[in-house]
Amino acid sequence: MSRIAYVNGRYLPRNEARVAVEDRGYQFADGVYEVCEVRGGRVVDERRHMARLDRSLGELRIARPMSPAALAIVLRETIRRNRVRDGIVYVQVTRGVARRDFAFPADHTRPSLVVTARSNDLEHLEQTAVEGIAVVTVPDIRWKRVDIKSVALLPNVLAKQTAREQGAREAWLVDGEGRITEGASSNAWIVSRDGKLITHPLGHDILAGITRSVVIDVIKAQGLAFEERCFTVEEAYAAREAFVTSASQIVLPVVSIDGRPVGNGGPGLIATALRRDYHRHAEISE
Ligand code: PMP
Repeated sequence: MSRIAYVNGRYLPRNEARVAVEDRGYQFADGVYEVCEVRGGRVVDERRHMARLDRSLGELRIARPMSPAALAIVLRETIRRNRVRDGIVYVQVTRGVARRDFAFPADHTRPSLVVTARSNDLEHLEQTAVEGIAVVTVPDIRWKRVDIKSVALLPNVLAKQTAREQGAREAWLVDGEGRITEGASSNAWIVSRDGKLITHPLGHDILAGITRSVVIDVIKAQGLAFEERCFTVEEAYAAREAFVTSASQIVLPVVSIDGRPVGNGGPGLIATALRRDYHRHAEISE
C-alpha cells in the first residue's frame, strides 16, 4: 500500500513528499517532533503528547503551525489515509523555510509541519517484550536541553548504532558522574533489590517521557514503592529488574546490561505487569 505523508497542507504519496532545501529543520535541526502510539486506529495519550509539543515549541520560540483542533484532525486523517490500526503517528514542526542564517528568520516565516503514520507488527513487538532486550551503556554526549524534543538527534543516532553493533536494542546514556540519564530513544528504569522502582528525575537532562508519566500514574495507583532519583551503572548491574518506556514500545523489559544478566536474566515481573496494565491507564482518543 502506498503511504501518505501530510506536508504543509497537502496529503502526498510519501515518495513525492518533499521539504525545501532551506527548511531550517534540514539546515540546523531547528525543529521539534512527537511520536504517539496508535492503537485500534486511535491516538494514545494524545493530550500529553500535544502538551509536550506545545512546550517544546514554546522553549524554542517556534510558532504553532495550526490550532490544536486542526492538528488533531490532521493526525486522524494521516492515520486514516495510511490505514494504521496499530503503529505510530509522527509529527514534526520546524521553524520553516528561510535563507540560511543562524539567527531566527523574519517573524512572518511559516513553520513547516510534517505528519506521517506507519503500522507496527504487534506480534513481533510482543515477542520482543516476552524475550526482553539487551542494552549497552555509552557516554551521554548530548546538549544540555534534552528536555526539548528537538529533531537534533545525532548523539542518539550514534548511541543506537553502537548498541546495534553490540547486538543490543537500546543504548543507556551515562553522564559524567556515572549515572544513567535515559535511553537513546526511551526512559530508563530499574527495580532495586528491595523492590523500589527507580527512574531519573525530570530536568533539563532527560526527556519527560509521556509513557514514563503514565507508568508513574500506574505505579502510584497500585501503591508500588517508587523513587524518582539518579541511579548509577553499578546500581543498574545489581538491579532485580530493568526496563525502558517509550510511546512506540510502551514497556520493554531489559534482560542484560553491557552483557551482564539483569536479575535472573529474564523479563521482570513488575515490568511485565506494567506492560500488561498500561493501556488500562492510558488515555485513548476518540
Ligand atoms: N527519551 C528519549 C531520548 C526519547 O527519544 C524518547 C522517545 N521519544 C523517550 C525518552 C520516551 O518518551 P515517550 O514515552 O514520550 O515516547
